[in-house]
Amino acid sequence: MLALPWGPHPEAARLAALFHLPRDGAGFLRERRERLRPGQARDDGVYVIGGLHQPAEPDEVLLQAYLAGARAGRFLNQGTLPRTAPEARGAAELCTGCAACVPSCPWSAISLQARPGVLSLAQVDARRCTSCGNCAAACPVKAIDLPGAEDAALLAQIEAALAAGPRVLVFACEWSAYAAADLAGARRQPYPAETRLIRLGCSARLAPDHILWAFLNGAPGVLVGVCPAGECHHGAGNRWAAERVALLQRQLAERGLDPRRLRLEHLPGDDGRRFAEVASAFAAEVSPPPARR
Ligand code: SF4
Ligand code: SF4
Repeated sequence: MLALPWGPHPEAARLAALFHLPRDGAGFLRERRERLRPGQARDDGVYVIGGLHQPAEPDEVLLQAYLAGARAGRFLNQGTLPRTAPEARGAAELCTGCAACVPSCPWSAISLQARPGVLSLAQVDARRCTSCGNCAAACPVKAIDLPGAEDAALLAQIEAALAAGPRVLVFACEWSAYAAADLAGARRQPYPAETRLIRLGCSARLAPDHILWAFLNGAPGVLVGVCPAGECHHGAGNRWAAERVALLQRQLAERGLDPRRLRLEHLPGDDGRRFAEVASAFAAEVSPPPARR
């Protein structure tokens, strides 16, 4: 028997635009990546059910509606909205009002406020900011930063990781590469012990100067581990990271440096074996061969 294809609800596109929600290739609204929050969209307090999310039978939709209603009630009864990470903060004395950060925010959390007599000032709406750090990587004068993942803190981590000698450095998104590395360790899937990981809340936080600092401190190679395409927890951090890495690879090549020392890989957080294989192959490729006796 031939079955008719089931598509998304006709309102899916309008609601996605209204709430800044991601859609999959077929047009359905996506859930959060976290496996223990089925039915919850990316914003806390926004729930996706029925034909907006996936083809579903009426009984199933009814159950989802009960569940979403209970969650919405609990959300609205909180009194205050808890934050799991601090929002990005701007420095009024540094901001030139160039507006580069405004389109970089996947959540439209940044706006420019006019200042009398001087340039405009970028302001972050703490209610919308998901702490991805993309604005901090995009600001040309470092006038906006992410508490807990400040530039100074990241540069210090890079220096510390390389203080004992040349090491392959992995900038690992905590939702993908870092989780996969953790899993590889737990399942005893080996990768070179000299590999050093720096955990990022999102790969969007990684700026080209962090990578250059790693090379300047002696890293033979830098691996950037990001979420698979379309699965970024913060919207499009993996896409921004890929664009920055591709640009930097071109710039390294133009200056006579081997761009293969920098690589970006999409790594699912539940595949420790793949992380171990990718990290091992990359380390073998970029590490200098042992001296002959
Ligand atoms: S925070 Fe940075 S990118 Fe945003 S407007 Fe100010 S100077 Fe420009
Ligand atoms: S940290 Fe991310 S979500 Fe928050 S303001 Fe910056 S770009 Fe937007």
